[in-house]
Amino acid sequence: MIPLSRPISPSEIAFDIDGVVADTMEAFLGVARNEFGIDHLRKDHITSYWLEDCLPIPAGTVKAIIGRLVDDPLGTSLRPICGAVEALLSLASRFPVTFVTARPDDMPITMWLHSILPEIPHDRLTVIATGGHALKAEVLKGLGAAYFVEDHLETCEALCEQGIGAIVFDQPWNRGRTPYVRVNSWPEIIGMMDLS
Ligand SMILES: [Mg+2]
Repeated sequence: MIPLSRPISPSEIAFDIDGVVADTMEAFLGVARNEFGIDHLRKDHITSYWLEDCLPIPAGTVKAIIGRLVDDPLGTSLRPICGAVEALLSLASRFPVTFVTARPDDMPITMWLHSILPEIPHDRLTVIATGGHALKAEVLKGLGAAYFVEDHLETCEALCEQGIGAIVFDQPWNRGRTPYVRVNSWPEIIGMMDLS
């Protein structure tokens, strides 16, 4: 792990949503169980970011479940990751916060963010939906972001190529040796920042 040389300012960091703020994989398992009758999957089966590579269900079913999660975060009972709400409250109550997601549509997930952070004025939270992982690095570079918290290792690699500091949010599907700073929790992210 490359240690950070100085605290991160709130204006120079942005965040991924799925797998970082939102417990999307847990919601995936919930939709699989409740809407598709698939009740034999557990979170530790998810050893790859690409679910069709690690789950014993047809690729078409994976696609259909992801479609539900993309279209309807509120209806699919998407929950925040432990500690995310408290951390984002402390951050967004004082600073604007930017999220960059590979989702194709910013509105459903923006409404979900407002639902988990009802105290935060809507204009404090900006969501940019790139529609694909490959565009994230370019968008972040355009925003002038120096750091990005992400759970997808291939995106981290693309960020580094653009000179953006990737911070990996530890998940079962991104473990192994990587050159990136790795965090295990939201308090750890806040602890790396200068909020003064
Ligand atoms: Mg993600």
